[in-house]
Amino acid sequence: MSVLIVGSTALDSIKTPKAENPRLLGGSASHAAVAASFFAPVKLVGVVGQDFPKRYIELYRRHKVDLEGLQVLPGKTFHWSGEYEINMNNRRTLATELGVFETFNPRLPAAYQDSSFVLLANIAPSLQSHVLTQMRRPKFVVADTMDLWLNIALPDLLKLLKRVDGFVLNDSEARQLTKEDNLLTALKKIHKLGPKYVIIKKGEHGAILSTRNGGLFLSPAYPLHRVVDPTGAGDSFVGGMMGYLSTAKGSLDDNIRKGMIYGSVVASFCCEGFGLKFTTRITRRAIDDRFKELDKLTRF
Ligand code: AMP
Repeated sequence: MSVLIVGSTALDSIKTPKAENPRLLGGSASHAAVAASFFAPVKLVGVVGQDFPKRYIELYRRHKVDLEGLQVLPGKTFHWSGEYEINMNNRRTLATELGVFETFNPRLPAAYQDSSFVLLANIAPSLQSHVLTQMRRPKFVVADTMDLWLNIALPDLLKLLKRVDGFVLNDSEARQLTKEDNLLTALKKIHKLGPKYVIIKKGEHGAILSTRNGGLFLSPAYPLHRVVDPTGAGDSFVGGMMGYLSTAKGSLDDNIRKGMIYGSVVASFCCEGFGLKFTTRITRRAIDDRFKELDKLTRF
């Protein structure tokens, strides 16, 4: 079983109080694809420009990411730059240069259309819908988003939500979408928009899963002594979870909690280095060891 992932494939310039790293491999789909690759083969849908460094293509290949759905177009790769405040939680976007994203029309290769597990990572909701329309009968579709789309493409996002099984967003986005401060009330309102599974990410405080029949699960974040760069942690979380789910036997309801813990573990590794630098150095064994540690930390 493989996971199809569509989202941004970007160059990220990231500034923290301690360091600055220009033009790293980034983007929601890149983080999610690398995270998922520790569990399952990944099929990537995205677009890059002719300036996209060959070493990043090699990096995807090392993670056995299928690149048939990655378009290389004349022009510049999507470039995002952001700056973190001293607490490493608050982030300011400095620039978003769309480049080849401006005219991106995701086309699914025939070999992708039967994928069972689909992650619509953060990208314009109209593009997420366009990919979904080209799929035959996916078993489990999860969408992620960001505040930008709530601000400029809410009708598209609402249309998409009627078609997905799961929706992942962070706590401030959930409050913005529902105009509700209480997250449990917000969760109920989001189920009414369509998705059966809703996951609200709370950064270093973990994530909450809610199922339409009233089930709740609290997933912890792995505690870190030092956060180097949290960019892509949310994408790594959902990528790791989808990778795990695509290979797990049994029902989704039984597996999704374990998937969230695996997602938290991969997200924690992501935070330990700039961009994808740390995540690309870990092994499945390191993930499993940290999974056991997190399990021990939360047992009573
Ligand atoms: P996260 O830290 O999980 O919010 O994800 C950060 C990633 O989102 C970075 O690698 C960026 O390249 C990517 N990103 C930032 N802005 C956008 C956007 N407007 N559309 C798609 N991806 C974006």
